[in-house]
Amino acid sequence: MGNCLSHGNKTKKTQNLDITTNENPGTQNPISTNAQTPHSDPPAAVSAASRPPANPAAIGPVLGRPMEDVRSIYTIGKELGRGQFGVTHLCTLKATGEQFACKTIAKRKLVNREDIEDVKREVQIMHHLTGQPNIVELKGAYEDKQSVHLVMELCAGGELFDRIIAKGHYTERAAASLLRTIVQIVHTCHSMGVVHRDLKPENFLLLSKDENAPLKATDFGLSVFFKQGEVFRDIVGSAYYIAPEVLKRRYGPEVDIWSIGVMLYILLCGVPPFWAESEHGIFNAILRGHVDFTSDPWPSISVGAKDLVKKMLNSDPKQRLTAFQVLNHPWIKEDGEAPDTPLDNAVLNRLKQFRAMNKFKKVALRVIAGCLSEEEIMGLKTMFKNMDTDNSGTITLEELKQGLSKQGTKLSEYEVKQLMEAADADGNGTIDYDEFITATMHMNRMDREEHIYTAFQYFDKDNSGFITMEEVEQALKEFGMHDGRDIKEIISEVDGDNDGRINYDEFVAMMRKGNREANPKKRRDVFM
Ligand code: ADP
Repeated sequence: MGNCLSHGNKTKKTQNLDITTNENPGTQNPISTNAQTPHSDPPAAVSAASRPPANPAAIGPVLGRPMEDVRSIYTIGKELGRGQFGVTHLCTLKATGEQFACKTIAKRKLVNREDIEDVKREVQIMHHLTGQPNIVELKGAYEDKQSVHLVMELCAGGELFDRIIAKGHYTERAAASLLRTIVQIVHTCHSMGVVHRDLKPENFLLLSKDENAPLKATDFGLSVFFKQGEVFRDIVGSAYYIAPEVLKRRYGPEVDIWSIGVMLYILLCGVPPFWAESEHGIFNAILRGHVDFTSDPWPSISVGAKDLVKKMLNSDPKQRLTAFQVLNHPWIKEDGEAPDTPLDNAVLNRLKQFRAMNKFKKVALRVIAGCLSEEEIMGLKTMFKNMDTDNSGTITLEELKQGLSKQGTKLSEYEVKQLMEAADADGNGTIDYDEFITATMHMNRMDREEHIYTAFQYFDKDNSGFITMEEVEQALKEFGMHDGRDIKEIISEVDGDNDGRINYDEFVAMMRKGNREANPKKRRDVFM
């Protein structure tokens, strides 16, 4: 987890770090100095759900919401692993018997404001990346008097690090297959406005013990939201994997490509490219930037593999390959698919999916968006602010076009216009904050029954247990979305039993229908 100023084995010092390092290429403790990046104030229109609850005595100082006993919902089981900040245990959801992993961070270790901000941000980022297939899913965050608990998807296959150690090194094809998945993950993070900053084999977990188990990125404790062109200055990461520009205190998201370049080198030969007895020595080696391709087994490794490693470990972040370029490198393409068009980005997919929904569902989503907590939508709020370049509180057509193209998506004027019209519920020509959250939140929010129930109750004004035509019409008018389309037609799409009104089951079916990401990317399972 995040900032580590209070820990003996982490340090605030930047260059003269004299910490004994492990001999093997991993189990690296992250380093962090001033990991926090300040955010400006949120847009004016903040959802009702984000207002502080009534009883201030029960509010936890870290998550800023009522404290809750995780043990009343989960049974905590055996220890799965330990990191710098937390201990992770197996846990079981009492209601269903489903198993998860629970990372517990002791609050006594969070000594200053920055430590607390780091935990908050880890939770926000995990919520923001929810639904991405190769990223560990956060199920919920809880705070009690002693600790903060992050309940996550269980990755029973252990760390990638242990697989690498067990294997020694990988065949070129196995390494290429693994790298493809990892680069996709990096692209997803970057397109969602997140830079991981601590990519290393210990932070990739395997979903199960199967040989071909999917890989999942985890530990967003050092991750931050970033804006295009933003420069970071804090030294964070784990020694072997830190990019040279981090050590020079001037860097952006390209650092993640460097770190996975280091991982690729290790996958192919079993040792890290920049090695020394001390952390100080490792940093010097990184700054020198010389990579050894002469020792065994490099002479027998293909020219293509070496070329890719060199291009990922280019000391100049501007010259370094991007995620898209890595995926298009001939070596990685050799017997795997590679995209020949820019990679999709999640926001674009969600906008497309939103566009296809009927107005009634859009209004229901607007109600649900209003129920989401601040920590769940912080990432989207940050993306909104990044797109709203003139800080007007609304996104114009031009800002949407620019915003999507900065994420590597080139769209025609017509396509952008269509997306704009879809998200712009009230048709005033711009996307406001609430419209943006509604159109881009992940549809797995529908997994939470209480959200759907809240929306149903919102429509069912007279509490009859049915939503009538009049109630639909009233709600559409309330949100300025009544476009004159026949309400009957909208109802009939949803009204399974044809009684002219919508009962709760029909409503749930509508909310859950077709919620897969538009244009879903094939999950690339890893064969090792
Ligand atoms: P820290 O942020 O304190 O370094 P990590 O997030 O790295 O903590 O977690 C510590 C260890 O717990 C990991 O190295 C891993 O072995 C185990 N672990 C973490 N998350 C999970 C998970 N979702 N499923 C299974 N084990 C996990």
